[in-house]
This record gives sequence, structure tokens and C-alpha cells, in this order.
Amino acid sequence: MKTILEIQNLDMQIRRLNREVDKCPASIDFKKYKQILVEGRNRFEQLEAQANEIINNYNQASNHYNKYKGNSEIMRKRNTKDMDLDNVANLITDTNELLGDLTEENRRVEDLVRKSSEIVRKSEELSSKLAEAKRRSGAIKAKIEEKKQEVAPKIAEIEKKIKALEPKVVDKEKYEKYKEMKQKGIFPVFVNLEDNFCGGCKVELNLNFIEKLKTKKMLPCEHCGRIIMLEK
Ligand SMILES: [Zn+2]
Repeated sequence: MKTILEIQNLDMQIRRLNREVDKCPASIDFKKYKQILVEGRNRFEQLEAQANEIINNYNQASNHYNKYKGNSEIMRKRNTKDMDLDNVANLITDTNELLGDLTEENRRVEDLVRKSSEIVRKSEELSSKLAEAKRRSGAIKAKIEEKKQEVAPKIAEIEKKIKALEPKVVDKEKYEKYKEMKQKGIFPVFVNLEDNFCGGCKVELNLNFIEKLKTKKMLPCEHCGRIIMLEK
């Protein structure tokens, strides 16, 4: 058991070194820029959907225009000289309605054109922001790589020590369990009982469990699965 705990301590040191890389300013900047890229991509998708909507509306508007154009041509072909006053009055009403509709359509198209140029402007703005983020993320990546290179020999050194310790492990089965849990991200695997709390997840353990632990000396926590040991 002593050897496994030694290995766990060494693994802890490796974790600390990896965390140093994760917590370095470049890593934090990198996460920020990645976020900008994700947001940018989402924004572009939104803009694309809006643009499609505008194209649809525009097509609808031009269909209306064609319909009105057809109607006005039919009216123009009517011979007004042979018409009585009632028919002329009707034609004037029709024409007024058509003018009103055309004005409305015109307003809608103008509105669509204004919205389109707004989208183009926003897209351009976003494009330059994304390009800047992308450019900087390259430099940041290089810094992270530098930090990784800095800790790599230290990690290799510790891994060598672990390799040297492994043949000395007596309880192979327990060590396999340790490796399995570590793989799953449950770490540290072996924790102490702290008062009546699990040293890993800090949940209070019931008295029944404590009693059992006193006889067995080692038991998996019912909450986090870590192996709780009675302090020697
Ligand atoms: Zn626990």
C-alpha cells in the first residue's frame, strides 16, 4: 500500500504540472479567443438565416410587383373613350388602390435593402474581429506550447520514478483499481478519513460506515467512490 501511495503522490505532482500549463495566462487567453471564435461562428449562422429571410421577402415583393404590373397593363388596354362615367370612376379607384399597394411594396423593399446593408456591415465588423482573434490565437498557442515544453522534462522524470516503483507494488489488484479510477478522472483515488468526512468529496459519512471502516481499514466512499483509508 505504501508504494501505491507513493505513486499517487507522484501522479499528484504530474497533475500539478499539467495544471500549471492550464492556468498559465496564455491558456486563459486562448480559451477566451476560442470563445470569440465560437460566438463568431454562431453570429455568422444567424446572419445567414437573416439574409435568407430577406432574400425570400425580396422575392415575394418582386412577385407582387409583377402582379401589379400585369394589372396596370390590362387597365391601360381598356378603351376609356367608350367607357361610361361609372366605369371611369371604377378605373380611378382601381388605379388609386394599385398606387397605394405599390407605395407599400416600395416601402417594404426599401426596408429590406436597409436591413441587408446593416447585415453586410455587421458581417464585415465580425469578420475583422474574427481575423484578429485568429491571428492572436496563433501566438498564444506558441506560448502554451513553450510552457508545455518547460514542464515536459519534469513530467518525464516523475513518470520514470513511477515506472521504477511499479514492480515493487505488492497488491497488484489494488493498483489496477487505482489506475482504472485515475483513468476515469477520479483522483486522488486513496483519501484519508477527515473527522467523519470523506477526504475526497468532503461528504459526511454515517456512523455505520465509520464503524465498518474501523474494522476493514479501507472502504470505498458511498458518494464519490474514492477509497477512504483510516489514518495510520
Ligand atoms: Zn467521497
